Parts: sequence; structure tokens; C-alpha cells
Amino acid sequence: MDNIPSAAQVTSWLVTGRILFLLIHVLGVAGFFYIVARRLVPLFRAERDFRFDQPLVRLGRVLKFWLGQWKQPRYKLAGTLHIFIFAGFILLAIRAFSVLIVGVSQNFVMPGLSGSAGPIYNIITDYAATIVLLCMVIAVVRRLVFKPARYAVPARYGKAHTADAIFLLSLIAILMVADSLFAASKAAAPLGPGQAAEALAAFSLPWMLQKVLVSASVPTLGRLYFGVYLLHELTFYFLLCYRPFGIQFHVETSLFNVYFAKLDREILKPVRWGVSDEHLDQVKSFGVKTFEDFTWKHMLDFYTCADCGRCSDNCPSNAVGRPLSPRFLTIKARDYAFRHYPVLGRASNGATLIGSKDSGGIYSEDEIWSCTTCGACEAECPLLVEYIDKIVDLRRGMIDDGNVPQSLQKPLKALESRGNPYGKMEKKKADWTNAKEFQQICPVKTVGKSNGADTLYFVDSITSYDDRMQSIGRATAKILNHVGEDFGILGAAERDSGHEVRRFGEETLFMALRDHNVDAIKASGVQRIITSDPHTYNALKHDYKDVPPVEHISQVIAREVKAGKIRFDPIADNKDNANRVYAYHDPCYLGRHNQIYDDPRDVLDAIPGLKRVEMKRSRDRSFCCGGGGLMLFYEPKEEQRMGVKRVQMAAEAGANVMVTACPFCMVNIEDAIKVAGMEGKMTAIDLTELVDQQIARLSPDLKEERASEIKECVAVSESASRLE
Ligand code: SF4
Ligand code: SF4
Repeated sequence: MDNIPSAAQVTSWLVTGRILFLLIHVLGVAGFFYIVARRLVPLFRAERDFRFDQPLVRLGRVLKFWLGQWKQPRYKLAGTLHIFIFAGFILLAIRAFSVLIVGVSQNFVMPGLSGSAGPIYNIITDYAATIVLLCMVIAVVRRLVFKPARYAVPARYGKAHTADAIFLLSLIAILMVADSLFAASKAAAPLGPGQAAEALAAFSLPWMLQKVLVSASVPTLGRLYFGVYLLHELTFYFLLCYRPFGIQFHVETSLFNVYFAKLDREILKPVRWGVSDEHLDQVKSFGVKTFEDFTWKHMLDFYTCADCGRCSDNCPSNAVGRPLSPRFLTIKARDYAFRHYPVLGRASNGATLIGSKDSGGIYSEDEIWSCTTCGACEAECPLLVEYIDKIVDLRRGMIDDGNVPQSLQKPLKALESRGNPYGKMEKKKADWTNAKEFQQICPVKTVGKSNGADTLYFVDSITSYDDRMQSIGRATAKILNHVGEDFGILGAAERDSGHEVRRFGEETLFMALRDHNVDAIKASGVQRIITSDPHTYNALKHDYKDVPPVEHISQVIAREVKAGKIRFDPIADNKDNANRVYAYHDPCYLGRHNQIYDDPRDVLDAIPGLKRVEMKRSRDRSFCCGGGGLMLFYEPKEEQRMGVKRVQMAAEAGANVMVTACPFCMVNIEDAIKVAGMEGKMTAIDLTELVDQQIARLSPDLKEERASEIKECVAVSESASRLE
């Protein structure tokens, strides 16, 4: 180092390096903090959000999802590249800081790195800079040559961001080269006069550059040293101040976004944080109508999105051409924030988000109604960006303004007056139990004050009223009966659980349905609840309070199989089943939203001779069948049905039977089989129906009879209209 003057000592244009670099530091840091302060303005005008609880749990998540980059390997190549770049950045952070200080204080050494740790750290960072540079080159080649589809920007969402991405990647590459040249020129200088030089990591970029520079004269190396130092400083601060203008802002915000991420993802955000249900009548406006109605955390999400496209790549609505792409929900909101809260100039707020571009809107109504709340986007996002709460909040805003799609008006009215979306009479709710043969083998009691039971089977609307789905109700009741469960139903006292009503933004109607059901459940005196509908399960478990513990029937069956109370006959005993290959379709509200993946699979695997294959998209990457509840009444614009795509996935996996554990999946999948022209090649069956069919309790004749009963049921449903 004695061979060439340090950057701080060099005098150029009558200004010493020390003064020049001090000036750059002050301007760079001040500029960065000013820009970030301006970016924070909308967050201070936003709605409240309670994210300050459980600091240790949150820190644990920072270690896992931020420092550990937990979700990155879900995309192997891009994820691995990101992990290397991230690790390189973390390792280089101390070196970058030291390099910055050396410009004003040439003898500065980071505390802890003055002894033998210093050279070891330098060797590690030599390799880190080399690897980051290599990753940048690969990333640029991927973007320019291979062009992964998920980075594409459809015309309706604006222009591609490739140029910006390449520009940023190039800046990082320049930083790495400058850093390496800086180290190489410093290390090469003593070699000319034959002195001992600082050891560089073999085959690292600084090491290779040193080999090239070794013949250069000391004055040349001195000029190079100063030049690359200046380049490093300018690039560093330019990057620092440029990042808050685009996707690279996530470098600053991601740690905070992960720390403040929602801990209980299944519980929908309240209409207003800090306002209890009893005081909701005092809230003047429900939901999100303007940008400032978003919570500060949701705005932080907008700033944090890295535009990686993984959410949209997994979004079923996007896959079937509905006008929804979660990635662009975020990008459009971020662009809105940048436009309305500029770094220079006055903030302008208050425009309505839903509506035409001319009126200042950024979202269309269809876009917001197209979401099935399947949760695939949230499961995928490496930065834990949230979507469902935002979409439900936007729907709450539309409902509050009376902006309800035509096709949803009738079912919503029926839910209000009759407690179910079909407008059927309450007294018909238990009609599914009246089939003569069924009553003989499995009488189902209606629980109430004078007729108690340990367990409540909460049936919900679709299984109670839909001719085809009633088969799921009867199969469930028979399984409960088989394992000796003392159970009953609420019958006419049961209202729709309101799961979808809530997710469609009708909070007041949901509260009325919930309160009615809670009163009825409490009056029945039951100790626990079982349901065969994952939407009901999710509602009772997460949206209701003060009700007994709830289980999905697949959990009950799995437990009873393990306990030996349920045993199965071999699949081949039923000649229709002998050559079948089964694929289990994870319902979103059982799998992704409640992590019940293994129980249904364990049950299937316990059936002797059952051949099961796994679809490529399964478990937390399951592909939504099209959505349940009110989604059945909404006809979004789409190029293809989600269910059709799902059935094709099952066929590609080699299955000819799709097993599900949700009545809504059954509706969508059976429709899709017909639409796809796959009748005769693919069938669908609910887990309860299959279990009921295979349970070891019947004589072979009776079993055949039961199988044809299910077949008849399916045939009836094919000719009957499902929805009145
Ligand atoms: S929201 Fe998450 S997954 Fe989607 S583009 Fe942004 S960072 Fe990627
Ligand atoms: S919840 Fe599902 S449908 Fe809605 S945006 Fe996310 S991935 Fe798409």
C-alpha cells in the first residue's frame, strides 16, 4: 500500500481525495435519506395495521425467510442465483463500508479485522465479488437470451421492465469489477519493485486482475487505483439513491417486510384494525377505495415486490386468462405511489383506485372479482407479500359503494333472507338425510336443546342442498356412524357458514350468518365440530370465535384408520375400481390455507391396492379448481376454465380418477371433465365417498350396491341443474 498513495491522499483539481470523498459521502447519504423519507410519506397517511406483536417469532421468520432465503429454491436456477447474490452482498457489506471509509481515513480498518481475521475475510470477499459478478452475467444472459416467460409484461399491463433490470444488474457488475480492480491494483503495486504483496484469493477476480496488472508501472497503478475507487464510490451512491425508484427498493425494504409479515395468514384482516365488530357501525367507509385506505404494511408490500413474477406464475386466474395478475396488482399500486407521492413535488392523493384510467383508476372491477382467494401467490412469494387481505379490502370497498356484480346480487339476497345462496327453504336443509335406505342404515339426529350430541356435523349450504353433493353428506354421516361417533346436525337452524360471503367483502352479512350459527352451536351443547367442507372448516376455525374445536372429516378418517377403527377392503374387490389410477387434488382451503396435506393421502394409501399418482402441482403448489362459494355464481372473463386445466394436469400425471375432499372442488372438476370432453376417461370422487365405498363392513353385494348408488347420484347430478 505504501507504493501508491491512498485515495484519501490524492489531490485532483486542487481538491484532496479526502475532501472529495467526504463530499460524495455526505451528498450520497443525505440524498438516500431524503428519498426514503419521501417514500415513507404515504405510509404515514395509510390505515393502521397491528404488526408489532411477537418480536421473537418475527425475528425467527427474518432468519428463515430473509437471511435463510427459504423460498428461493422453489425456483431452482433463479433461486440459487439469488441466494449467491444475497450471500455475496451480505459478505461484501463490511468490505463496502471499509472501502467507503478508506476514502476519508486511509488507515481505517474495520474493528475485528486488524489481526489474522482481516486476510481471511479479504479472501472470502474476493470470492464473493467474483461469484456475484458471475451471477450478474448469468442473470443478464437469462433476461436477454432465454427470456423466462414469467418476466414478460402483457401489453395491457404496460412495458417490459427488462431494460431497467439489465441496467441495475450492470451497475452491480460495475461495482464488483471496481471493487476487484481496487484490490488488484493495490496488491499489484508492490510486486513491480519486488516487494511482498497482499495475498489475494487464488482464481478470484481480484487475483486474475492482479496477474494482468503486475507489469504496469506504479504511477499507472496509482491512477487506476484512484479511478476505480472514484468509480466505486459514484456507482455505490448512485445505486443507493436509484434503488427506491424501482424494483431494487426491495434491497432496503425486504427485511422490514419480512419482519412485519402477517403471522396468522388464515385470519382475514378486520375491516379496521382497532375497531371491534360491535363498533363497526361507527366506521364511515368500509374497505379500500383510495390508495390511502391501504394499511401501511400493504404499502410496504408494494415497495418490496421484486417483480420476480412467481406469484403470477402460480396464480390460476392469471393462468386461465382472467384479467388478474397478482404481480401487476402490486406493480400498478407502486407506480401509483411513485406518481402521486413524488420525490420532488407535492403529494396528490384521494383518487379512487377502481375505475377507468381516465378517472385515475388503476384496477378494473373484474380484476378484483377474479380472485379465488386460493393463496397460491402468497405461498410462492419469497418476500412474503400479501394479496388476499388487499383483494378482500378492495371488494369491501366496492360492496360498500353498492358495486356488486349482477350475478352475485341474487345469491347475496338469498343469503340475507334464507341463509343460503340458493334461496332454498331452511326447513329443507336436512332433506338429504331423508333418503329411505340411508335413514335405515344411518339415522341422523338434529341437535338442539332437548336433543344433545357430542359432535356436530356442520354440513353447510352446498352439501345440504345440491343433489350431487348430498352424497358427500351421506358418506360423511355413514363414516361417523361407523366409528361410533355420537353426532347430529343443526338442520334448519344452520345457516351458511359465510366463508365466501366474507371473502367477497360482505362483512356485515357474514357477521349476521356467523352470529346466528354461533348461537345455534352453543345452544346445541356439542363438544366438537366436524365438517366435510374445507371452506366451512376454515370459517369455523379462523373466522368464528368461541365455538368448540373443529376438524375436517379427512383428519377424523386418518386418525380412525391409524387407530384401527376403519379398515378397508382391497380396491380390486370392486370391479369398477380395479384398473383405476387415483390423483389427489388438494383443495386450497384444506391444503394451502390449513396445511392438511398428509391426512387425505394417508387415507388413500391405506386402501389396499389403490394406485395413486401425484400431480406436478400438488400440496402447497396445488392449482385451484375454480373457486367455491359465491365464485360459483360469478362468471369471469377467461380463456379456459381452471377446472379444465386441473383435469388435464391429472391426466398428464397418468390418473383417471381425481379424488378431492371438498364439495366445491367436486362441482368444478365434474363440470370440467364434461367441458374437456373427458367423460369416460376421467371421473371424480370425494374422499368420503371413496372411504364409504371401500370401508370393510359390507358384504360384496352391498358394496357393489353402494358403488352403483354413487354412480346413480352422479348421473342424476349430470342432468339436474345445480343452482336454482
Ligand atoms: S409479489 Fe412476490 S412473488 Fe410476486 S412478483 Fe413481487 S416479489 Fe415476486
Ligand atoms: S389468491 Fe389465487 S387467484 Fe387470487 S391472486 Fe392469489 S393466486 Fe391469484
